[in-house]
Amino acid sequence: MRIGIMGGTFDPIHYGHLNSAEEIAEIFKIDQILFIPAFIQPHKRGKKTADAYHRLMMTLLATLSNPRFTVSTIEIEKGGYSYTIDTIKKLSKTLRRNTNFYFIAGIDAFKEISTWKDADRLLRSCDFIVSTRPGYRIDALFKILSETVSKKYRDLRFKIEKKNSSIKSSRLSVIGSRTFIHTVETTPFDISSTEVRNRVRKGMTIKYLLPELVEDYIYKNELYV
Ligand code: ATP
Repeated sequence: MRIGIMGGTFDPIHYGHLNSAEEIAEIFKIDQILFIPAFIQPHKRGKKTADAYHRLMMTLLATLSNPRFTVSTIEIEKGGYSYTIDTIKKLSKTLRRNTNFYFIAGIDAFKEISTWKDADRLLRSCDFIVSTRPGYRIDALFKILSETVSKKYRDLRFKIEKKNSSIKSSRLSVIGSRTFIHTVETTPFDISSTEVRNRVRKGMTIKYLLPELVEDYIYKNELYV
């Protein structure tokens, strides 16, 4: 079984997250995508976010109608900082043996991977699927990893494996381990949670940026005003 893990603050969840998860599930034949709202994302420390309960509710509402999508409360229940390595370790213990995890991240998040907790162990413990922006070349990702991760962890090196131009996907291997970093170009949705929050604050429309149920939830609970 293949499980994709989509971590984020989801403050709020929007069509950028949902579309990227759906396209990746289709391309990589992923059976289930687990959306995991973070309690506190370490790289967003100090930044005020909506209450974890609200972010969880919005994630549930947004994913309800998709049979492939589920939501996990693992990071919210734990509280404190949400470190991906801890989440992956915990999930591996609870799920069936022949389950493969694919951690899904946008290039904006993944390029900071060297600053994530135990990045070396993390990159050796599960595959990553990195959604890139159009025209973003795998060489750039290789360069980023070499200049950040390999510099910090001397024995961690990467190799460009193959390209699949029909699905605009490429693969890097983590040398000495059985894990890969896949890159894929999904349809670009130029939306961010920051933009949604700003628009609500200014009284501008957020229609068609996120599911209607999430839009209703935001107004009903007076979030981001
Ligand atoms: P913020 O604007 O508050 O920083 P965000 O919109 O980037 O939030 P996050 O919850 O921080 O959303 O992102 C979770 C994951 O989703 C990250 O891996 C990020 O790269 C990815 N992501 C966010 N927006 C998009 C988008 N429009 N298209 C594809 N992936 C996205």
